[in-house]
Amino acid sequence: MKISQILKNKKVTVSFEVFPPKEWAKIEDTKAIIKEMVKDKPDFISVTYGASGTKSGYTTEIANAISQGGTCALAHLTCLTSTREKIDTAINEMRANGIENILALRGDIPKDFVFSQSQYFHYAYELVNEIKEKGDFCIGGACYPETHPESVNRIDDIEHLKNKVDCGLDFLTSQMFFDNNKFFDFCEICAIKGINIPIIAGIMPITNASYIKKSIELSNCSLPKKFVKIMERFGDNPQAMKQAGIVYATEQIIDLMANGVNHIHIYTMNKPDIAHKIVEGLSAVIHE
Ligand code: FAD
Repeated sequence: MKISQILKNKKVTVSFEVFPPKEWAKIEDTKAIIKEMVKDKPDFISVTYGASGTKSGYTTEIANAISQGGTCALAHLTCLTSTREKIDTAINEMRANGIENILALRGDIPKDFVFSQSQYFHYAYELVNEIKEKGDFCIGGACYPETHPESVNRIDDIEHLKNKVDCGLDFLTSQMFFDNNKFFDFCEICAIKGINIPIIAGIMPITNASYIKKSIELSNCSLPKKFVKIMERFGDNPQAMKQAGIVYATEQIIDLMANGVNHIHIYTMNKPDIAHKIVEGLSAVIHE
């Protein structure tokens, strides 16, 4: 099923995210994680794609396992370091496997990466155009409530986002954020700019203090004082940090929903127990 249809038909949606293993030998472990996750009945599960673009088969395999388990799958696809031929092969492979939904991404620029003359893809919008040419996919894209880290300023970033949306995106999924006001402001700016496809709010439950530093560096998102205080107090106590991180994410989602944001993507990062606890804490809220 197409995610655009799910977003249209359901008032509230909650989705999860998994990443494929680094080695094929561990593929069954990831499938076992999915079996656990589907028990919480997410509206879809997305599968990330290696930034170097080398493991498309892994993403497809995991997306297949999700579909076979009866849940809608969203396969991520990054383009920056791939040739056009390689991307076309990946898209064909996804289509042949019945994958209907692709999250079209540029991918982060790897350290020491040199832009060559033969580079075909520079930005995600070019991948959106390519996917559009290759078939009838539902296509999502990434967006950044606190501006993409490479952008000179917010105006530029929103201009580029509008261009990407106009290439034919069906929905956007946001980068993680910890301050809901940043997301509300961003949605307002998008509406003013005429970006009117669904924007799914990306929520990252921070259950491990050491993980946060790297995530923040990559994502450009700010930390509200309330969150910093939680980290300071519980960061060295894994059990307490996990519990506090789950409660923080749950409260964030309740506040988003109370303010009319009905589509939530939880960066569950292969942790079915955390996904379960959040959904359990929202059981009446998301089915109201
Ligand atoms: P783009 O939309 O191309 O934007 C990248 C930058 O280029 C922005 O600053 C934008 O303003 C600018 N830009 C766009 N068009 C132009 C233009 N015409 N001229 C000048 N500048 C322009 N990474 C992975 O490797 N694998 C994943 O599975 C993955 N999943 C993700 C899922 C989500 C929901 C999000 C939010 C991010 C994900 N990422 C993933 C990270 C993503 O690849 C990086 O954030 C990357 O740096 C940007 O990707 P993009 O698709 O947003 O790029």
